[in-house]
Amino acid sequence: MKTPLLDLQPIHKIIREELRQAVLRVLDSNQFIGGPEIDNFEREIASYCGVKHAVGVSSGTDALLISLMALNVGPGAEVIVPAYTFFSTAGSVRRVGAEPIFCDIDPVTFNIDVKKLENLVSPKTRAIIPVHLFGQCARMGEIMAIAKRHGLYVIEDAAQAIGAKYKGNMAGVIGTTGCLSFFPSKNLGGIGDGGLVMTNDDTIYDLLVSLRQHGATQRYFHNRIGGNFRLDAIQAAALRIKLKRLDEWSNMRRQNAIYYKQSLKDLESNGFIKLPVESQGNFHVYNQFVIRAGNRDALQSYLSDNGVGTAIYYPLPLHLQECFKEAGLTRGALPESEIAADETLAIPIFPGLTQEQMNLVVTLCHRFYEK
Ligand SMILES: *Cc1c(COP(=O)(O)O)cnc(C)c1O
Repeated sequence: MKTPLLDLQPIHKIIREELRQAVLRVLDSNQFIGGPEIDNFEREIASYCGVKHAVGVSSGTDALLISLMALNVGPGAEVIVPAYTFFSTAGSVRRVGAEPIFCDIDPVTFNIDVKKLENLVSPKTRAIIPVHLFGQCARMGEIMAIAKRHGLYVIEDAAQAIGAKYKGNMAGVIGTTGCLSFFPSKNLGGIGDGGLVMTNDDTIYDLLVSLRQHGATQRYFHNRIGGNFRLDAIQAAALRIKLKRLDEWSNMRRQNAIYYKQSLKDLESNGFIKLPVESQGNFHVYNQFVIRAGNRDALQSYLSDNGVGTAIYYPLPLHLQECFKEAGLTRGALPESEIAADETLAIPIFPGLTQEQMNLVVTLCHRFYEK
């Protein structure tokens, strides 16, 4: 692949020595679980995002799971989630024994459609999990207003959106809790798995800290059932180095997005593709640059044959997944999620993508539609 969908080498090359030192520092400290790297990283993330508490956990998926556990969402409860997102947004709801209720998406932003959300609230609803998909926040103003009217928790799935802003607030600090992922392909990626939960609520914070350590309040004394949901010190040490450069890298993603939008706009005017939109009040951090493409699968093969990596996020909406079929939703139930699954294609946007690589993508897209 001449132009992969994601290449971490350009940014890792710059910080390679710092990362090596950080890993060795942890190795020499003998503190692999807990300790100062974790404490410092949590403080630094809380300060970066502007939130009172940050709790490092083992993955973004576990951040969602532990949030639901801390809020005591379990059997008999319903949680509203978008149908078009990564699996774990809904998987975590089912894992605590609650039912995910699927909401359709807004076709412009791909985020949960706030006009369709309130109709799904029932007496069993306990929480909403909006997802800030591809690096742009969902309409948190409306979502918080609906939650307030019905007494619901809001768990922000900000796995793809660290550093994104909604009306000046950072993604993940508006809801009851906010969940981050440090999976290597996320904007702040570790050198392995990792995640984090943010909250401004002291009681929820205490619960999160206990739940990530088997529900203990004091070692070997368990008030509740938790799990091993800890972030490792090596990840925290590596992430601290990357956090210092996150804004620079987000800006590089935004610059790449501007270039694509200029260079592909004629294909949009001719009706071949639709470009992503930064909606009003949002600061988009482009974890993915996702277009809608006519003849999508053929475009994807053509790009691949010519050395450009792409991906489909996501090919099957969650309400049509085998594991959620008891909910009884069939094709046609959530049309915008289904259309998105058929039309979307993510093209390379990573920081360090060269002008030459972007030109190749742009040229190939033109060649494909103009032949
Ligand atoms: C990546 C991702 C997750 C899960 O994060 P992991 O760290 O991979 O467990 C959850 N939700 C969304 C929207 C994601 O993109």
